[in-house]
Order: sequence, then C-alpha cells, then structure tokens
Amino acid sequence: MKAEILCIGTELLLGNIVNTNAQYLSEQLAAAGVSVYYHTVVGDNPERVKKALEIAYSRADMVITTGGLGPTQDDLSKKTIGEFFNREMVFNQECMNEIEKYFKRINRTMTKNNESQAYFPEGAIILKNSNGTAPGMILEDEGKVCIVLPGPPVEMTLMYENEVVPYLQEKTDEIILSKTLKVMGIGESKVEEMISDIINKQTNPTIAPYAKGAEVHLRITCKTSNKEEALEKIEKMEQEVRAILGDNIYGCDDDTLEGVICKLLEEKGLKIAVAESCTGGMISAKLVNHPGASAVFMEGAVTYSNEAKMNRLNVRKESLDKYGAVSSQVAEEMAKGIAETAKCDIGLSTTGVAGPGGGTPEKPVGLVYLGFYYRGNVFSQEIRLNGDRLKVRDRTTKMILDRLRR
Ligand code: ATP
Ligand code: MG
Repeated sequence: MKAEILCIGTELLLGNIVNTNAQYLSEQLAAAGVSVYYHTVVGDNPERVKKALEIAYSRADMVITTGGLGPTQDDLSKKTIGEFFNREMVFNQECMNEIEKYFKRINRTMTKNNESQAYFPEGAIILKNSNGTAPGMILEDEGKVCIVLPGPPVEMTLMYENEVVPYLQEKTDEIILSKTLKVMGIGESKVEEMISDIINKQTNPTIAPYAKGAEVHLRITCKTSNKEEALEKIEKMEQEVRAILGDNIYGCDDDTLEGVICKLLEEKGLKIAVAESCTGGMISAKLVNHPGASAVFMEGAVTYSNEAKMNRLNVRKESLDKYGAVSSQVAEEMAKGIAETAKCDIGLSTTGVAGPGGGTPEKPVGLVYLGFYYRGNVFSQEIRLNGDRLKVRDRTTKMILDRLRR
C-alpha cells in the first residue's frame, strides 16, 4: 500500500509551528509497512486542498490528512474533502451526543459552532476523539482511502493509535510486529557500524537505527501473516543484536532509562540522593518521571552556588578554592555530602561548564564531572560534551543515570 501525508494549516506554511504530525505519521506508517513517498503541506484554502488531494491520488491510494477539523471558520477539512469526493454533508446524532458529553465532562457550555463537528460527508467512517471534540473520519471511494485526523498532536496521535491502527490492520491480512531496543552509551553511527552485518543482510525482519537525543533506538520490524512466526524471527534478530551490543542495550519498547534504574535500585534495596549543579534538577526530575521512584529516590538538591555546596553538602572551602567548583574533587565531595546528609546508599552529583559562556582553556564548555558515592566509597568521572547548554545538561543527566546500570 502507498500512502501520502497531507498536512493542512496555514500556520505550518508560515513557519509558526513545526510539522511534527508528518514526522509521527511517517514513523508509524513505516513501522506498519506502508510506503510513504510524499509529504505535502497546504494552507487552509479549499481550492488548494482539493488540488493537493488530486495530485496525491495520482500517486497513492491512501491519503492521511491532519488539521482543520475544529469548529472554527478556517477549519474546512471535512467539508472540502467531502466536496472532493462529491459527498453531501450529513448530520450525525451519535456524534453530537459525544460532543455534548465532552463539554459536560470538562464543565463548559458548548458553543453553537461546535455543531458543525457533527456533520460528515455521507458514508464516512467516524473516528472517535478521546482527547478533544473534533472527531476524525475515513472516506473510502473506489479504491481510494482518505483518513482525516485532527491537527493538535495529542489528539491526532491518540486517534491514530486507537482508531486508525485497527482499521489498517483489518485492511491487510499481514500483521506487522515490531520491537524497539534502546541503546545508551554509543552513538548512532557507531551502533550502525557495529551491527552492519545484520543491517546488510536484513530482509524480514528489518532493523533500523534512530538517534533519540542521547539514545539510539533500534527498531526491529517483521511482516507476516503468522504472529508466532514473527515473534520468533524478531527474537532471533534481537539475540544477534544483543550479542554484539551487550549491556549498551538498557531496555526495550516502553522501558525508560529512569524506570530501568529505579527498578534496579529497588531490587537491590538501594536508596539514592542527588546533588546537582550544572544539571539544575534534571536528574531529580527524570527519576521522578518513573511512577515508582519514591521507593528509591530520597532527595535531590540543586546546589548551584559555592555557598550551597558548602552549607548544604559540606563541600570544603579549601577544595573549592584549590580545584574550583568544576572539579573531580568537588564532584566527589558533593556526592558524599548528599548521600550522608540524606542517609542514602548512593549519592550522585554533577558539576560542569554548561556554556555558552564561562569556559576557559583549562575548563572548556562541555567539561563536566560526575560524582558517585556508594556506601563509603567515592569516585568521579570526567566527561567532555558537545552541544548547547540544554544538550550538555541533558546528556549529563542521561550519562550519570546510565552509569548506575554498569
Ligand atoms: P482545533 O480543534 O484545535 O482547531 P484542528 O483539527 O482544527 O483542531 P488545526 O486548527 O489545523 O487543527 O490546528 C490546531 C493546532 O494543532 C495548531 O495550532 C498546532 O498547534 C497544532 N498542529 C496542527 N497541525 C500540526 C502539525 N502538522 N504538526 C504539529 N502540530 C500541528
Ligand atoms: Mg482548528
């Protein structure tokens, strides 16, 4: 099956928003084995939307649109697409009930223009919006399929997962299963090089690496009409990849680094506290992302100034004067200080030059010290990172958490 993505919205053309919908849909469709050869963006203009549809259907059998489903004047997708397929707009009472229910739930009065959302081109399959009022739809017409989704990404992605995925699965007898292995500690090109033999000989399942911030995700995808067989093939490829990448793989699918770390600490009965300078609370925030964090995470302190490092963590003035705040000495004293005052088995700390200013030849931007305390022992690690301030802080956060696994 060939599909195209057509994003509708003048704000996309003006550069006010980034077209993340196209990116999401492309990624999903690729994983579902649907080929996407074109993305188009068009403004909120009926004539140009129809023109774009005409061009798209000259190349593909399926078009997925996003945007322009709301109740306001400029939201013209359903009507325009209905006209394109020569369908009358008809009122759908069931849908109206859903919209009324939604307004009751959020305790707001429905405005008149919301009624327009209950009108659909005749014959449309209606797609529920569990996160907003604008329902989506699917139109089928002489072998052509048009899937019409809302613009706001939270609404669009939920509708895709809940409504479109089952529809696509029903269309083909093939199922597509995938598994994502999550890698920390080595970059995308290195990962690709390490598993190049597997990549070169791939057919079904396929394997593709994606860089995701400091992580690399490897998606193994298998198309088949037999679920057991697909699972077996994926498992076999996973084992081959694991044999090469070893413990650089921290988890798969819905696993998160912080989740993996929290579970590991919980299993071992270890408690952790964190003292952050350059990361400014990011490590704590990340740990708290994990719903079970309270079992292991006791305390986080953002000790940005030298005074805070001394008063809160008992870092020695002599160490700050002699080595500077960005030093292995201070990182170690910070880690020890937080672990001892919070009465934890593990203390972590960060101190570094996040930039853009503040670097010196001896201590350039991107120089960070990670401090570790573990039951009476302290040690530290020096790392040097590239990138802007946010990236340096983000990578530091992920690297120090990743170190806990090893
Ligand atoms: P609404 O009911 O909110 O009006 P809608 O389906 O009519 O939804 P639009 O009006 O086209 O959608 O867009 C609403 C908002 O959704 C935009 O302002 C933008 O923030 C976001 N959005 C729309 N299209 C995209 C896109 N392609 N990628 C990312 N965000 C988008
Ligand atoms: Mg709108």
